[in-house]
Amino acid sequence: MIAMAPAVDEIDDDDDFVELPKLDLLAPAALAQKDAAAAKLAELEAATGRMTLDRNNGKAGAAAALRDHLAAIEAARTEFQLAEAAYGEALEQDGAARQRLIDAIRSLDPDSAVEGITATKCCDDCGGDNGCMILGGIGRCAHPGKGGVPPAYSQDPVIRSFRTAAVKAIRAQEESAND
Ligand SMILES: [Zn+2]
Repeated sequence: MIAMAPAVDEIDDDDDFVELPKLDLLAPAALAQKDAAAAKLAELEAATGRMTLDRNNGKAGAAAALRDHLAAIEAARTEFQLAEAAYGEALEQDGAARQRLIDAIRSLDPDSAVEGITATKCCDDCGGDNGCMILGGIGRCAHPGKGGVPPAYSQDPVIRSFRTAAVKAIRAQEESAND
């Protein structure tokens, strides 16, 4: 009689499914707005010399145009400062959101954190904003077969428990394959 190896990749819907927070980063758009505000200010400032020369040469309408121009520069400078402040705030909020994601990953039960890992494949939730699940959201792969945990993190008790769960899961698959 042929012994049937249990299917290791069978989908188990009864697992405690933990929804990790999604990162919706604010900084990229805020940076684009800051850059656009800076470009607009620079463009206005580039016209100041010509407009001042026109006024000084008594060109018709040039004095009023220069006054409007200087007011527009003032407004553009204010917008740039606002965009700069918003960008700083976006970076702070993104950092807090990333920390919440790291905290959520690190609070997972080790077996569910490394769910899906095989001898050659990363955990189901590895990648993207999650980084490597074994490292608890730090962006470098620590799969035991692809370099493992860097020494700097080897004393971290959460990372140790995730790594132990990963090694255990891979070993269990190898044992059932060798049966
Ligand atoms: Zn990984």
